[in-house]
Amino acid sequence: MEKFQEFKSLINGNPLKIVITTHHKPDADALGSSLGLASYLKAKGHNVIVITPTDYPEFLYWMGGHKDVVIYNFGNEKKSERLCNEADLIFSLDYNNLSRINELGKAVANSNANKVLIDHHLDPDDFADFEFWSVKAAATAELVYELIVKLGDKSFINRNIAECLYAGIMTDTGGFRHSNTSKNVHLITAELIQAGADVTKVSKLIYDNSSLERLKFIGYALSEKLQVLPEYRVAYFAITAAELKRFSSKTGDTEGLVNYALSIKGINMAALIIDRTEAVKMSFRSIGNFSVNEFAQKHFNGGGHKNAAGGRSEESLETTVKKFEEALKEYKDELLEKPDVVSVS
Ligand code: 5GP
Ligand code: MN
Repeated sequence: MEKFQEFKSLINGNPLKIVITTHHKPDADALGSSLGLASYLKAKGHNVIVITPTDYPEFLYWMGGHKDVVIYNFGNEKKSERLCNEADLIFSLDYNNLSRINELGKAVANSNANKVLIDHHLDPDDFADFEFWSVKAAATAELVYELIVKLGDKSFINRNIAECLYAGIMTDTGGFRHSNTSKNVHLITAELIQAGADVTKVSKLIYDNSSLERLKFIGYALSEKLQVLPEYRVAYFAITAAELKRFSSKTGDTEGLVNYALSIKGINMAALIIDRTEAVKMSFRSIGNFSVNEFAQKHFNGGGHKNAAGGRSEESLETTVKKFEEALKEYKDELLEKPDVVSVS
């Protein structure tokens, strides 16, 4: 990290007003790394507020500090702007482009606070004064762990911080299955368990905490909505707003669905295309060499990682699906390449 000593003296200095922001519809890594960092910085004596641009799934409500999160679009627009204006330091966690935090991005951009980026996505924008960024990290939570250790404060990692960070690492590695599951991931995970993380509790709360309606929705999607394009080795779901309503879909209910499409034998790329009314949101996953990050950037104003990315479209669901299928033509050869891995997602 450039200017690390300067950053360290800020963190070890007088109490600061700190705002931590993370991306639209935070997942376990986004929220876990934010709340883990927040707990640590509070223990260092700082005044810390986590602001999310939107709500997040209920299966993350167990994380310590969740009740104090300010959700920007829940009528907290003015409050968030004030907090950003008054802040000495603003952290950007698990995203690297201010468009990922919607309108909150303007409040961050307009603030005179020092900006700190902690992230593991490809192609970061240049908006931060301090960067703690690595695409080699499986999760932002891994980087938060390393940052705390680098600051000499490993002993500050209590059970809550350990469980928040563990949740981020567990989910961003797909339960320690994806190709980003490095030796470092397991070494850090061991340290988090040592610090008190209860792995059974965290995995139960995150993975086995579905409503009956969510399971029925997954069943419906699998039996009625899964499209397979064997000529491209691609499979995808396109979900309408009416279908979300029919199954009373809540934030987080569609998480993981795209992986079912990728789990089909012979499929190299999967997509989940959802009409979220304000826009059509897309999730992409791949195995092997095919870069869904590049695909999402080029065609759907998105980005992410090589094997997991997202994007959006302002057009109708139907038009977006057509555009998606059309875009695949350009990549036919690449998509048909046999990946040199047995299974990653
Ligand atoms: P998911 O499909 O789980 O929403 O996201 C997969 C990955 O892509 C995550 O790392 C997420 O942060 C990133 N991502 C999702 N949607 C977008 C998007 O619209 N733009 C960018 N730049 N990244 C995205
Ligand atoms: Mn992440």
